[in-house]
Amino acid sequence: MNDREEYIAYIRGRKSSDKVNYHRLALKEMEELKQRETKPSILLHACCVVCACWPMDFLSDVFDVTLIYNNSNIYPSDEYDLRLSELKRYLKERWNDRIPLIVTPYDNETYNLSLQERKDDPEGWKRCFACYEKRMDEGFRYADEHGFDYFTTVMTFSRQKDSQKLNQIGLKLQEKYRNTKYFCSDFKKDDGQRKSNAICDAWNLYRQDYCGCIYSFNARMKQREAANEPESV
Ligand code: SF4
Repeated sequence: MNDREEYIAYIRGRKSSDKVNYHRLALKEMEELKQRETKPSILLHACCVVCACWPMDFLSDVFDVTLIYNNSNIYPSDEYDLRLSELKRYLKERWNDRIPLIVTPYDNETYNLSLQERKDDPEGWKRCFACYEKRMDEGFRYADEHGFDYFTTVMTFSRQKDSQKLNQIGLKLQEKYRNTKYFCSDFKKDDGQRKSNAICDAWNLYRQDYCGCIYSFNARMKQREAANEPESV
């Protein structure tokens, strides 16, 4: 099977009903964790406040949540800064900074080099899988080295991202790290999108219109040009 055939087979497979319900697994695990006397800690990878706001609400009843902003994929650096500053503003205004935030060094150049071979992939294909894995692996390593009980990512919130793939990556990474367990999730389930929209409206949060990397940025620019849209929407 060549790459194109593999991609077509993958897209067809995404429509299949034969999928793991990771949200159900999450609820089941949370029910068990509620019986504990103390809350377990979780390191939550956050790519932006839009994707992170509802998962923070969802998890904070059961977990002691810490966020990690580990997103060297984001281009340009102004966009990286804006997404980070909106996340910080929300943590301050909504949570009184009770949820700690870890920010790892930003290195978009090295990130781009690591994905160079797959730069022409359509969005949602192997370049994205490598991007998910790179950021999750770095976050998972941080969680493991700093004694967190669990690690997960808010990326399963996004309808553009394959939550089956994200959870498979998380479960694979769990085998590599000894101290930290992967928490399965599908944050878009149970009306996650509507809940996030309500929070974003209430706190007037910035909503970006492209995923993050230079490839998704350029693709969005082309769409804007074709539609004659202004630069910022
Ligand atoms: S489109 Fe999004 S997930 Fe895919 S490589 Fe770019 S930043 Fe990563």
